[in-house]
Amino acid sequence: MFELLDGKTLSIQIKNEIATEVRNLMADGYRTPHLAAVIVGNDGASQTYVANKEKSSHEVGFTSSVYRYPESTSEKDLLEAIEFLNNDPEIDGFIVQLPLPKHINEQHIIDAISPDKDVDGFTAINVGRMVLGEDAFVPATPMGICTLLKRYGIETCGKHCVVIGRSNIVGTPVANLLSRKGFDCTVTLCHSRTKNLAELTRSADILIVAIGKPEFVTAEMVKEGAVVIDVGIHRIPDESRKSGYRIIGDVKHDEVDKLCSWVTPVPGGVGPLTIISLLENTMKAYKKNLNIK
Ligand code: NAP
Repeated sequence: MFELLDGKTLSIQIKNEIATEVRNLMADGYRTPHLAAVIVGNDGASQTYVANKEKSSHEVGFTSSVYRYPESTSEKDLLEAIEFLNNDPEIDGFIVQLPLPKHINEQHIIDAISPDKDVDGFTAINVGRMVLGEDAFVPATPMGICTLLKRYGIETCGKHCVVIGRSNIVGTPVANLLSRKGFDCTVTLCHSRTKNLAELTRSADILIVAIGKPEFVTAEMVKEGAVVIDVGIHRIPDESRKSGYRIIGDVKHDEVDKLCSWVTPVPGGVGPLTIISLLENTMKAYKKNLNIK
């Protein structure tokens, strides 16, 4: 019988912990932590992500501000906005919601973010620090996966962890983090050129799926007793729902879950922990900014 790695419940618990810490700091006379978000254009999914980040920030007592720019904003104007946020001492950390409009070079924008305020952990400095095992802002989704494994007490030492997907925001950093001292997994990182994928995934004690293909991982690809982390998020039309859609992942849960020891549901698994990690990174930036130990 499998157990759920319940990200929703865990995220409420961690939010309460952060809110308590913020209240205690306020009682000691400190200002509130401040997370800002930059959003360019009107992409629906981006608007939803930013609204969720804003809501969670308020729930833990942070100040949250959103800087909205029209689709037509030039790269130069956006770089000026980043410079402003870098230099505002009242803003502890900020994110630039991706994707940006096609005429803006995302890498130029990311490169302009101060590493000390880069709470998404996307700048080269933070990626480099993470790979070297130095103190760094770690990207939110891989950090959330690590939190789930740690808080649920999942044994990782010496386990074979197979990661499907090598993106810079999920697969590559999570493979790096889990291979480190502390987690001590033996990691195999798979991608679209991997041969004999199912053979590899069947040997996984911990299988992390970040591929972006709905229900790609089926029962034949999973070993009995494996821990399965499904990072995928897909909205598919569903007339029976009031919203007109439902959310599914990269794993075919109706057949895979019964094989697992632990599994993340979709929704309510990795997603809530991603936002928590952003809040934790903001707290870290805030303490560094105000020199709070
Ligand atoms: P991505 O940038 O699209 O990368 C997908 C990866 O999957 C690539 O490395 C690709 O290989 C690999 N891949 C594609 N087809 C494959 C195949 N047939 N066999 C093996 N590997 C294959 O994806 P991402 O940004 O990491 O996101 C992955 C999923 O997670 C998406 O559904 C996304 O919406 C979701 N997501 C969720 C959260 C959350 O908070 N829960 C956060 C971020 C992303 P190549 O490199 O060879 O092309």
